Amino acid sequence: MANDDFEKLVREAARIIASSQSSVALTGAGISVESDIPPFRGKHGLWERYDPEEYAHITSPRKDPGKVWQMLGELLLICRDAQPNEAHNSLARLEKMNLLDGIITQNIDGLHQKAGSNEVVEFHGGNSTMSCMECGTQYHTKELSLEIIPPRCECGGVLRPDFVFFGEAIPHSCIERSIKLASNCEVMIIIGTTGIVVPSAQMPYLAKSTGAVLIEINPEKSAFSDIVDIFIQGKAAETMKSIMSNIKS
Ligand SMILES: [Zn+2]
Repeated sequence: MANDDFEKLVREAARIIASSQSSVALTGAGISVESDIPPFRGKHGLWERYDPEEYAHITSPRKDPGKVWQMLGELLLICRDAQPNEAHNSLARLEKMNLLDGIITQNIDGLHQKAGSNEVVEFHGGNSTMSCMECGTQYHTKELSLEIIPPRCECGGVLRPDFVFFGEAIPHSCIERSIKLASNCEVMIIIGTTGIVVPSAQMPYLAKSTGAVLIEINPEKSAFSDIVDIFIQGKAAETMKSIMSNIKS
């Protein structure tokens, strides 16, 4: 895409976001790749090294906790060290400016919260807490040492992070909050998600059906590109930074 087109689309997106009463963001792995969180899917994704059926199915942590915790330990340490990028920071700023009602994210890395966003629906759960698989006691991940894996509860049971494993239902409260956000927004900003993972991928269709304007920011076209009003081909951090500079000026 020519630079002129990029600038034009960025200005148009900024104008729409700044003049709307309620915007919502839908984010996926693409926004966090730029913070060095590896994606699960695709090239260099975690699933290339760890078979999700073996490592990430709901039955996996019980079957072989030691093995599953090799992958979880690696993932949680990456999340612990990762820092939000300009795309996460921009969304947090939009919320403070009362221009963003909330974020629906497919990510479990907690980077939106680290950036300062308050209204975040973690569609697939998050890594901030863990629960005992025996007694259900919940722990804050930051209070646990991940040196010795698998981490255990006081009762001796193995802990699991509170994100959604394959074969596990998405919490009803998340679905309800997402539907509410998507069906009430005037603008939905789609960043770094390609529309493969359902049901979160249905949210743009819901927003569109209630009249929202859809803005997509992705390095390549996605399943959403046919229904969005503005497609900006670009990286998340760079594009959001440009949008923000247009909103301020
Ligand atoms: Zn326990």
